[in-house]
Amino acid sequence: MKALVMEAVGKPMVVKDWPEPECPADGAVVRVEASGICRSDWHIWQGDWTWVGFQMPMPIILGHEFAGVVEEVGKEVKTLKPGTRVVVPLSQGCGVCEDCRTGHSNQCFGAGAGGYARYGVLSHADFNSVPLPDSVDFVEASSMGCRYVTAFHGILDQGQVKADESVVIYGCGGVGLSAVQIASSLGARVIAVDLDDRKLELAKRVGASDVINGRKTDPVKAVIDLTHGGANVSIDALGIATTCRNAVASLRKRGRHVQIGLTTQGEKGEVALPVDQIVFKEIQFVGSLAMQSFRYPAMLSMVERGRLQPKKLITETIPLEKAFGVIEQMSKFENVGISVINQF
Ligand SMILES: [Zn+2]
Ligand SMILES: [Zn+2]
Repeated sequence: MKALVMEAVGKPMVVKDWPEPECPADGAVVRVEASGICRSDWHIWQGDWTWVGFQMPMPIILGHEFAGVVEEVGKEVKTLKPGTRVVVPLSQGCGVCEDCRTGHSNQCFGAGAGGYARYGVLSHADFNSVPLPDSVDFVEASSMGCRYVTAFHGILDQGQVKADESVVIYGCGGVGLSAVQIASSLGARVIAVDLDDRKLELAKRVGASDVINGRKTDPVKAVIDLTHGGANVSIDALGIATTCRNAVASLRKRGRHVQIGLTTQGEKGEVALPVDQIVFKEIQFVGSLAMQSFRYPAMLSMVERGRLQPKKLITETIPLEKAFGVIEQMSKFENVGISVINQF
């Protein structure tokens, strides 16, 4: 099969012939019909996150946002059947460890990959498979492999956002735009912050009531003015020191900050924060990582009913050959919305 292969950190990825994956005994092989290109793959290509012990074996086929049809299941798989349309979750728990058994399989974190090719693998298939409703097509579904679910978990589970609250979202890439759409669909007032007017335009189209260009306006002051004292919830969807600190500084008393973005080389995982303010204002700072596979049906039900429309975040569908160009563009933050590969 054709696959986009990463051979080393920083080296251009290349499309080449690659053996089809073997089916694990408790896993499944999925014929990939659509595969989203997530910024996490740019991070891996940059060699980020070694400071938290994250290292991928090379060469590797990245791509952890894919949807398709189950081609084959392993001999230990009991419930998932070939022919089932599925979205493959980024977070593929083992199903038996303490995290998985207590409802936190996103902490078990066998991260998926292999979506930049015609065939990909789903691990521990009975535990992790997420069948798709007929009304959700593969391109839309692929956008829900990582960024959309990460935002869903961040807004609903970790952020506990309520309808009468204000939410400020720093960074309008894929995960930020997803957070905008999800928070506004719950009824919250959403303020989106970015440096790129094109991304802010899209943020408005998917539900932001106010947008702030941080290049032109001091975003912290603007949020405090708009909300008469600060937002109830802040999201750092990017993960650089400036957005993290600005997000925390945009909160009102007893506000909650949700950190979704992981840092880059500039921070190497460390960001200085105003700790005394956090104490005086009783601010909560929580992390949010991917989403458990059992939470997908709740989200997909909202998609089926039209409450959530991930499709609106997709700005282009492309052939596999153009995927690396999208990853390269991410170095300059030029990408607007979500790009999905649908030709292999
Ligand atoms: Zn991702
Ligand atoms: Zn586990």
